[in-house]
Amino acid sequence: MNSVVSKFGNEFFWHLHIHDDRSELNCTESVQSVTGFSVEQFNSIKDRTNELIYKDDMPDYKKQMDIIRNDPDKNEMIIEYRLKRKDGRLIWVHETMKVIRDEDGNLIEFFGNVRDITNYREEVNNLKKRVQELEEINGAKDNFISVLSHDLRAPFTSILGFSEILLNETSLSDKEKAEYLAYINDSSQNQLQLINYLLDWSRLQTNRMKIEPMRLNAQSIVFNCVSALTGSAVRKNINIKVNVPDNLFIEADERLINIVITNLLSNAIKFSSEGNVVEVNADYFSNKFIEFIFIDEGIGIPEANVEKIFHISKIFTTPGTKGEKGTGLGLALAKQIIQKHEGEIWFYSNEGVGSEFHFTIPLSANSILIVKEDEQDRLKLGRKLTEFYNDVQIISASNGFEALQFIEKNSPTLILIDHDLPLMNGLKLAESIKKMNKISPIPVVAFIDEGEYETRKNYQELGILTFDSEKEDELKLRENIKSYLF
Ligand code: ADP
Repeated sequence: MNSVVSKFGNEFFWHLHIHDDRSELNCTESVQSVTGFSVEQFNSIKDRTNELIYKDDMPDYKKQMDIIRNDPDKNEMIIEYRLKRKDGRLIWVHETMKVIRDEDGNLIEFFGNVRDITNYREEVNNLKKRVQELEEINGAKDNFISVLSHDLRAPFTSILGFSEILLNETSLSDKEKAEYLAYINDSSQNQLQLINYLLDWSRLQTNRMKIEPMRLNAQSIVFNCVSALTGSAVRKNINIKVNVPDNLFIEADERLINIVITNLLSNAIKFSSEGNVVEVNADYFSNKFIEFIFIDEGIGIPEANVEKIFHISKIFTTPGTKGEKGTGLGLALAKQIIQKHEGEIWFYSNEGVGSEFHFTIPLSANSILIVKEDEQDRLKLGRKLTEFYNDVQIISASNGFEALQFIEKNSPTLILIDHDLPLMNGLKLAESIKKMNKISPIPVVAFIDEGEYETRKNYQELGILTFDSEKEDELKLRENIKSYLF
């Protein structure tokens, strides 16, 4: 048997010669890598067409063969079909076949090339899927732009209308003037909110905005948002209850997480009725995340709107219980922000009963601030601490001022200070730290030279644990520090 070796493992060539009522088939050895059958096995298959071609693709194959057989002008066929390999696996192949006829028009020679195109088809399928996805996203964007262009224009009607009256009407009373100015102010605020949301949303979506996570105290973030919304809560006599422990720290972009909390809280207030209670809770969700929950006793979300929540392509907004306006973008933006922080956001709602919005956000690892003048000392202690506790973050400062700046921004879990520091000694620094956060001061441990009893007493009066600088007793350090970490 003649067999030609193909250098391409994913294709084989075959040749069929019919003479004296006999047929002789030759094919390249690579038939084995494509079909799993050796040349001999392949040749001995009785009814190759039926054995090898997948049944669903057979009608098309037969049709093409009939054309070749019956049309003397047709000498070539190109077809793609699924081929059953020896191991039963189906692969997609591309076959090109040419034929030669004798003087009477009988087919006497066939030359074929069969190429495995399974990977190529898979890639094409993936690309088709991607195109479909992109078309859907593009459609959503088109829809979004058309809804938005309406929303961007709408407030100008009242802004321009009322400002024209104010400019042209000379006989307006002070009360009327104030009322019209309030309309203008209201519409402008709403418009600015919409534009800000929109800019943030699109920058986040196109990755043009980098999030800058930092260690933030969950309670103070919530309190700041609550106090910004106190006015709207008081107007409806709504009581906001905050249950957020003071030692909870999250790792988040401050401005962005403020947007999320403010939006969820303002929705809870907006869709609540007079005298209702709104709750903000936060606690550990897992060993990596903190969960925030916003609970209201408001009007709830009707079934028809449930699936629209969080989707930018389905912008919708309903007025609050006192006619408060919205942008319809807040929750879509909140979802983007939470997802960029690797967290999740979800809700439960019952029409007429109330709603609960939940989100998770990474918790901030324990961080220890070391305040020592000498860099080598700082590094040595830092190394020791990371050996003891592998998930603590070590930060250092060389003097009290640097330390205070850092504490104000980042609230470490624990502060280790030397008493002997330049510019401001350890005791002064410890006093300033105590003053910074009176409700739950950050624990401080001080290293003091041996024998300085008076100094040691001063620290103890402040409730500060002291260590001997020389000894830095490792076991003691390890045990004591452990109790401060979570
Ligand atoms: P906005 O509040 O500015 O309209 P959002 O994206 O924040 O935009 O919310 C979209 C819509 O979801 C609201 O208009 C409202 O219909 C519904 N919704 C959101 N939060 C609540 C809630 N706590 N209670 C009832 N409905 C809500």
